[in-house]
Amino acid sequence: MTSNSKILSFEVFPPTTQIGSTNLVKTLDSLRTLSPDFISVTCSNNNYDNIGDTTIKFADYVNNTLDIPAVAHLPAAYLDKAQVIEILERLKDKQIKKILALRGDISDEPMKDDFKFASDLVKFIKDYDDSFEVLGACYPDIHPESVNRVSDFHYLKEKVDAGCDRLITQLFFDNDSFYDFQERCAIAEINTPIFAGIMPVINRNQILRLLKNCNTPLPAKFIRILEKYEHNLIALRDAGIAYAIDQIVDLVTEDVAGIHLYTMNNANTAHSIHASISSLFTF
Ligand code: FAD
Repeated sequence: MTSNSKILSFEVFPPTTQIGSTNLVKTLDSLRTLSPDFISVTCSNNNYDNIGDTTIKFADYVNNTLDIPAVAHLPAAYLDKAQVIEILERLKDKQIKKILALRGDISDEPMKDDFKFASDLVKFIKDYDDSFEVLGACYPDIHPESVNRVSDFHYLKEKVDAGCDRLITQLFFDNDSFYDFQERCAIAEINTPIFAGIMPVINRNQILRLLKNCNTPLPAKFIRILEKYEHNLIALRDAGIAYAIDQIVDLVTEDVAGIHLYTMNNANTAHSIHASISSLFTF
């Protein structure tokens, strides 16, 4: 990562089908031409048996075939220490030295005892091998399980103090909530770089998922766009991309440390956005 320019990174998820996997390789090849500072690969919770064919496989491709630093997501609520050590060794074998340490979303199944919170995993990884760069998740609009902002910040600070080198935010659509969050981090002496997670909303399924699962507030301006264009594929895509560009221009102008683009495995969207913002990253 260069120190004199802002970070631009992408996130992809491992698909569940063979055709999806073939397409993801093409997507990654295409994303490489945009020279991101890193590409992160998500990991579903409780994915221990399959992690070699999903997160590790694609992170390996990014890191060693494309020669772009890869970040492997690692949700550990359903892992024990021995399993995490095995995964860390497999990542080291592939020279993947960046991990997004997560608790992960909780299902009805009982969690294991070793990593009840992400901070337990952050500390464990740093104690095991402090040459790993450890990133953590954060929530400008508060994590949905937090009782209030005070407790959210208390535990975020604990996570950073456990050894988080950088933070990546949950997606948000109102930059003011990010600036407010940044300011509160500074007051709490959470001084690690914070990368802003931006998701271009370009189709109706995304909208429905957002409305169902996400506690991120949707600004009136954003809702107006969704309502007006939700049944017009092209117009919704164009408006969603324009909205994301608008957010990024504002964030970069305000000197955000980095932009982490949730690509949803869509290289075309990343290219459209990149075409409008790339010069800002080296300004
Ligand atoms: P934590 O930091 O552990 O926080 C979870 C909750 O517990 C918060 O409310 C926090 O305030 C609270 N808390 C923390 N410590 C304590 C404590 N000691 N005592 C009491 N309460 C505490 N999920 C996946 O499954 N796979 C992914 O690949 C993935 N990638 C993500 C990428 C990003 C950038 C983000 C923002 C999220 C991602 N998630 C992913 C979602 C994430 O797993 C969920 O949001 C999950 O609910 C919380 O994970 P966390 O690591 O933030 O948890």
